[in-house]
This record gives sequence, C-alpha cells and structure tokens, in this order.
Amino acid sequence: MISVSQNDGNNTFCTCENCRKVYEEEGSPAGAYIRFMNKLAERFPDKEISTLAYLFTMHPPKKVKPLPNVNIMLCDIDCMREVPLTDNASGRDFVKALEGWSAISNNIFVWDYGINFDNMVSCFPNFHVLQKNIQLFKKNHVTMHFSQVNGSKGTDFSEMRAYMIGKLMWNPYQNADSLMRSFMDGYYGAAAPYLYQYQKIMQGGLLASGTNLWIYDSPVTHKNGMLNDQLCKTYDELFDQAEAAVASDPVRLDRVQLSRLSLIYSELEIARTKTNQDVAKVRQQLDYFRQQCRKFGIKSLNERSNAPEDYCDLYEKRFLPQAEKSKALGAKVIWLQKPGERYQKIADTALTDGLFGGTTFVESWVGWEGVDGSFILDLGEEKEFSSVEADFLHQLGQWILLPEKVTYSISTDNQTYQPFGSFSFAEDRAPQVKFVGGKVTSDKPVKARYIKVEVDAIGMCPAWHYGVGHPAWFFMDEVTVL
Ligand SMILES: [Zn+2]
Repeated sequence: MISVSQNDGNNTFCTCENCRKVYEEEGSPAGAYIRFMNKLAERFPDKEISTLAYLFTMHPPKKVKPLPNVNIMLCDIDCMREVPLTDNASGRDFVKALEGWSAISNNIFVWDYGINFDNMVSCFPNFHVLQKNIQLFKKNHVTMHFSQVNGSKGTDFSEMRAYMIGKLMWNPYQNADSLMRSFMDGYYGAAAPYLYQYQKIMQGGLLASGTNLWIYDSPVTHKNGMLNDQLCKTYDELFDQAEAAVASDPVRLDRVQLSRLSLIYSELEIARTKTNQDVAKVRQQLDYFRQQCRKFGIKSLNERSNAPEDYCDLYEKRFLPQAEKSKALGAKVIWLQKPGERYQKIADTALTDGLFGGTTFVESWVGWEGVDGSFILDLGEEKEFSSVEADFLHQLGQWILLPEKVTYSISTDNQTYQPFGSFSFAEDRAPQVKFVGGKVTSDKPVKARYIKVEVDAIGMCPAWHYGVGHPAWFFMDEVTVL
C-alpha cells in the first residue's frame, strides 16, 4: 500500500483554472485527487494506492469512482466528540461523507481521533461514543480503522482506552459498559468503583454543559462545564477514595495515580485563568504534578513534544503571581488593525488582563491571520515604566508563527508619539510550542499614558513550512509594562 496524499492544512489545494473546473464538475476537490489516484492505480495494478479523504477532500466526488485498488483514508478530524458522530452537526457532515464514499468504494480506512492532541494529559471523557462510532464505521463497510489515541505515556486513561477500542474493533456489538467495568475491576482492583463513578459523572457533566469536546480543546474551555469547581471537588474526592482503597497495593496505587494526572493537569490549567487562587495550593499541586510526571516517565504533554518539566518551569514564571505587577493591567485597547473576527470578542480585555495563554490557542490568545496588527494601550493616566513586552505564541502545527517584528512607541497625549524601541524575532523552526516575548527595555524610566504596539507579521507561511503560499497566523496574549 502506497500513500499518495495531500498535506495537512485547510486550503492547500491547487486553484488553477483546470483544477477548479474539475472541482466544479465533481462537487469536491476530491474529484481531482481521485482522478489522479485512478491513473496511478491503473499504472500499478498490483499495488494499492491509499489517499486521504481529509479536510477539503472529505466529501466524495460526484462522478469519478475510485478503482478497487484505491484506498480511501477517511478522516474525521474536524468532528466534535461529546456525542457519537450521528448526533452533532460536525459529526453529521462526516456521516454524509462516509455514506457517500461507502456508496462508491469498498476500500475504506477510517482515521479516527480520540484524545486531546494539544493537552494529551487532560480529561477526555469520550468513552460513551466509542462503540456507536465503531458500529457506524462497520455499517458503512469500513474494513480498516486507525484510532489515533495514546500517542505517548500518560494520556488520559490510555490503558483503558486501548483496551476498549481494541475489544470494540474485534466486535462492535459487545456491551461497552461491561468492557469498561471489567477493565477497571482487573486493572484498578478495589479502586474501580470510584474511577467508574468518576468517568460517569464527568460524562454527565460534559453532556449537561452542552460544550463540545474537541481534540484541540483546552481544559479551560470546560471550566464552567464538566470541570467546574463543584465537579472537580467531587472528582478529587473520588480519586482520594480510589487511592485509599488500594493504599496497600503499590502496583494498583501507581495505576490510579497515573490516571489522576489528567485531572491534576486540567485543574492546573484552569487555575492559571483565575485571579482569586490559593497560590500556595496551586504551587503544591504543580510540584506534585512535576514529581509524578518524573516518577511515571511522562515525556510529553502534547503532540508537539513539550516536556512536563518545561511546562512546570514555565508555569512558575508565567502563571504564578509575580512580584511586580504590569502597569498595563486593565488598560483600554484602542484598535488600529484589529485581530481576526473570531478573536475580537475577547481582544478588548485579553491583552491586558494579566493572564497569560497556555499552549492551546483557543483561550486567552488573540490572533491575526496573514496581516499586521496594531493598537494603542491607554494606561488611564501617565505612568513611569522602563520596559514593554508583548507575548507571542509559536505553534507551527497550527500555522502560528512568530511575527517579524514588534515596535513600541509612547505618547502623553495620543497625538505625538516617540519611539520606544522594537524587537525583531528570530525565525524558529522547532516543532515545540513556545511563548516568545518581544521585550524592549529603556536605559532610563520613561513617562507616558499611551503605548502604541505595531506588529509586522510575516504574512505568508515560509517555504520550509507546509503551509507555504498560505497566510500564517500570529497570536498575542498579553502586553506587560514594568
Ligand atoms: Zn491545478
């Protein structure tokens, strides 16, 4: 089987006139891809040519039918996971694609996703959707299935997830709840009833919240839903009881504690978005998380190889209260070049609320796509300071690149501006998620009420990035003035 497939990315298909004609005739860019695959399949009849039906090629073509030795690798990456695929809008769009492909092919491979890729060690209660989804695949003559979960140690309930998915792949008509119970009884022993309750309560919390479960979520998305304060308290009590139940059984105690890391991480992520935290308690939890990750050999917290040690170091510097408070806290933002529409809702406060974003761009971060950004901060009155620093996100996998440059200028009257300085960013090709500050410090303190922040974007993704030729994002979350 030889894979000949499009790259990642939402709009990376050819837009020349000839190709566009094919898309129109076929009702989907998949038309051009399948026509090409059929030519390859004809040329190499003893091979199977596998191609992704993914993002812009998820929906099948209207006319051309894939040859039997063309394998359709159908991906449901954009779907939400809180309910089975048949039960929400994103899922139904996929089901429509699945039924379309199954009408023209018997050679379908489903690539399914079942963990949070940006926060792998965080709560992902999707056990109630596994069985119905696998049944759906089977009904539509899917003969191969890749369930992308458990990429590395410590991902949410990875042992049970592997067990249940494995069992359901053999036979999707077994009782999924019995599978969960039998796994828990065997693996967690006397702790099983508490962890079973934990799973069920969280599932209820998720469904009752009406919030989507997404593979690029942040736990922060669920802080008023399945991870609200009352529920987290309940989860912690259940884990305390679970640990107590196996206190004299070190192997099972380890298993319970390993499974608890998702909850601890989720709580830490939510804690950094609250200003009224018991800092000593958060620090204690952070130290415990660090120590447990070391003990269990957790290497990475996300798909981008960010290590727990680095996370904990950064957390201390970035999220725990610092001695000196930013003079831009609560400053009013006057927009010159606004961020992308999706981010305008939070943009007025997110840049000066004193809260830094995490590794997921979905909360706290404000994004611009392909264009420069600029705004003025009004500190409310003249203040003395000697440094200005805007904080940026580097996350290549999401097409979020550092800008070229950030320039600061200052004013007392919002009429005449004096240069304060600028910061140029070095190009960074590392796959890890990073936070990079563009800091400018003056020799002597200055006085000003207004600070103008102008960001020169890089515009298009560069040649070495797979989004080449398409706009790159830059994301900013906070401007700190000291
Ligand atoms: Zn073309």
